[in-house]
Amino acid sequence: MKTALVTGGAGFIGSHLVDRLVSEGIRVVVLDNLATGNWDNLAHHDEQHVTRVLWDVSEPWPDDILPRAVDWVFHLASPASPVHYRRLAVQTLMVNSVGTKHALDFALRSHARFILASTSESYGDPEVSPQPETYWGRVNPVGPRSCYDESKRFGEALTSEYVRTYDLDARILRFFNCYGPRMQAEDGRVVPNFVRQALQGEALTVYGTGQQTRSFCYVSDEVDGIWRAAVADGIAGEIINIGNPEERTILNFAEMVADIAGITLQIEPRPLPPDDPTNRCPDISKARRILGWEPRTDLRVGLEETFRFFRSQGSP
Ligand code: UDP
Repeated sequence: MKTALVTGGAGFIGSHLVDRLVSEGIRVVVLDNLATGNWDNLAHHDEQHVTRVLWDVSEPWPDDILPRAVDWVFHLASPASPVHYRRLAVQTLMVNSVGTKHALDFALRSHARFILASTSESYGDPEVSPQPETYWGRVNPVGPRSCYDESKRFGEALTSEYVRTYDLDARILRFFNCYGPRMQAEDGRVVPNFVRQALQGEALTVYGTGQQTRSFCYVSDEVDGIWRAAVADGIAGEIINIGNPEERTILNFAEMVADIAGITLQIEPRPLPPDDPTNRCPDISKARRILGWEPRTDLRVGLEETFRFFRSQGSP
């Protein structure tokens, strides 16, 4: 039986990845300190298939309780919402630097393939659209988002160096905005905020003019891209965007959320957070070419699923 280790496996994307791995017949070990994750996301798995280890991956790893050999290390542990990584700024810097080093070292000594969850934030506030992997980005190195952006960029540099220096079979995936069930209602991102507000009949909090753009990828599509990258051979050192290339303004997104909720859109304007990227849209031609992957879920369909999830969690 193959084995995978997933850091951050109790989180939003991580737990969906665990579901996929289990469905592929893989035994999974999850390392998570529950800073932003929750074991409830894995409650439907028994201990035989999914081993849960409460651990801060920035600390030296507990080799005595981990398998000696695994087939894959998926490194997803990190706060990912701007609200969370501001609140956990130093921890975010640590998990994406020191934590990434521990994960890479573990992959080396257990002869595993390594998958780094990186981010579109590597591009910062981009001057080209859509963003291809070859774009170097425009990131404020010391701004309020830099704890996330720069530590993810450092993680990319370290991973690339483990490929060059130690011949590690690693790949780097840049996730764009992902959404779906198991997002936390209070994590501050636009999808849970708008869905929660719409369900409660409140005005939607649009930051700035609402003319900034994002591109939203449904979580099952995202996980399919991660899985394809994990099983693809001959792509060590490759960097691949994983996201949905359908770009829309936040204002347009608010209109769609209100429409699905069946409410008249009311907007509560709020100031734009500093360094909020003006646009974000993945060029996924590389993912199409080397993984045969592209997202399939229509935004409206994915949002309806997300609404169902929030309703099942007790939102009105
Ligand atoms: N945003 C918004 N209202 C909210 C939360 C976010 O208008 O209640 C905007 C935010 O300014 C950004 C976009 O929606 O332009 C996406 O924000 P999010 O926090 O989801 O993630 P980001 O893409 O910025 O990492």
